Amino acid sequence: MFSRKNLRRSRKKTELKNGLWKKCKQCGEILYRKELEQSYWVCPKCNYHFLVGHKTYIDLLLDDGNLDEIDRNLIPTDPLGFPKYKEKYRSSVKKTSMKEGIISGTAKVAGIPVVFAATDFAFMGGSMGSVVGEKVARSARLALAERKPFVMLTGSGGGARMQEGILSLMQMAKTSAEVALLKQENIPYINILTHPTMAGVMASFASLGDIIIAEPGALLGFTGPRVIEQNIGVKLPPGFQRSEFLLEHGFVDIVCSRRELHDTLVRVLDILVNPVRKG
Ligand SMILES: [Zn+2]
Repeated sequence: MFSRKNLRRSRKKTELKNGLWKKCKQCGEILYRKELEQSYWVCPKCNYHFLVGHKTYIDLLLDDGNLDEIDRNLIPTDPLGFPKYKEKYRSSVKKTSMKEGIISGTAKVAGIPVVFAATDFAFMGGSMGSVVGEKVARSARLALAERKPFVMLTGSGGGARMQEGILSLMQMAKTSAEVALLKQENIPYINILTHPTMAGVMASFASLGDIIIAEPGALLGFTGPRVIEQNIGVKLPPGFQRSEFLLEHGFVDIVCSRRELHDTLVRVLDILVNPVRKG
């Protein structure tokens, strides 16, 4: 026979399964899904940042949640005939309703016109193949042509996409060169780094911003800490490659909660776009 306590527990289990509740991965608290959505998927108890996709960031950061998308129909080829690449690509398209692991376009942030792009971890780890690189490059070129700040958000644990081999790797040089042109013309380039941003993405366009903003606890680096430890046989310091560690060591400029990300971005844009203020 079910006791009342068991009944409650079993009801909670069913509701967790049905997605009404979500368990925080960090503190274990059971959280009401609707409240989590309203707080942009940040745990109210421990500030854990759940992994979210590009749509959440578009809603959070852009005026009216509106992105005027460009290059929507660019899709990759399979130049190496890499085993199972086509299947993986197709399943990512199905899972995310995206045609590639990046979305880009023009938008406004608190009325300031910007070019905005975001990679999405849910699409093959947010990895950079030829199309992702090309869309970053085209976004930078558009920002240059229209003299608008370029806001680039990344969630790219996959780095350069191995299925496209050297064509993926060359995107590192290409995207780095394109964003360097913005610097020459004094057009602001802002990186927002979310968990995880690694490898070929981090080692190119994701770490070249004038201002680098990171979400708390995000893993940001080139090679992951476990691989480094195995290779050099040294125990790494606690928090290595996390946002806070990188802030302390000068690689990241601002660590801010997703709940404050919009206001922080507005402040940064305002300072960079309107540098001279009348007293
Ligand atoms: Zn929590």
